[in-house]
Amino acid sequence: MIYYADAVAKLIEEFAKFPGIGPKTAQRLAFHVLKGSKEDALALAKALIDAKEKVGHCSVCFNLTDINPCRICSNPNRDAGLICVVEDPRDVVALERTREYKGYYHVLNGALSPMEGIGPEQLKIKELLQRLQKGNVKEVILATNSNVEGEATAMYLAKLIKPLGIRVTRLAQGLPVGGDIEYADEVTLSRAFAGRRDM
Ligand SMILES: [Zn+2]
Repeated sequence: MIYYADAVAKLIEEFAKFPGIGPKTAQRLAFHVLKGSKEDALALAKALIDAKEKVGHCSVCFNLTDINPCRICSNPNRDAGLICVVEDPRDVVALERTREYKGYYHVLNGALSPMEGIGPEQLKIKELLQRLQKGNVKEVILATNSNVEGEATAMYLAKLIKPLGIRVTRLAQGLPVGGDIEYADEVTLSRAFAGRRDM
């Protein structure tokens, strides 16, 4: 049994809550902080607090942002005829990296998953339909992940959107089955955009 000072134990415990961080890594991070300067530790604490206090969801696309509407939604030079629907704010980052896409986004903040009790009401689907009802969107690109939940979400959305007379496409070629958008490389994502198919 290893004994730590309470404050050290607490720090390790907090680090261990991060995804992919086991007890060993949590311990290493905690000791890294303790070994470093007080300024570094305060900068870390401040970054955590700032991120939490200043970042929220964009009221239009529900991406994470520190200004509302977000930088993408408030950019008038993007193509108002295109909305790309993604599951997660990290997917926006991945797709923006390709520099290929010039439309706007809509972040669902999840995917349909009956197993986890996530239904349409838990996602920003109602808000998406409200955006589409304004009438200037010509195409909705469904860029949900290519796993079971992502596919089910895309099918569900296509059924809702197509009757509105809007073209619905799905990113296809090149994306690994079961793969997450956020982990796909730029070339793969660019090809997936170019090779999108109608639903
Ligand atoms: Zn936005």
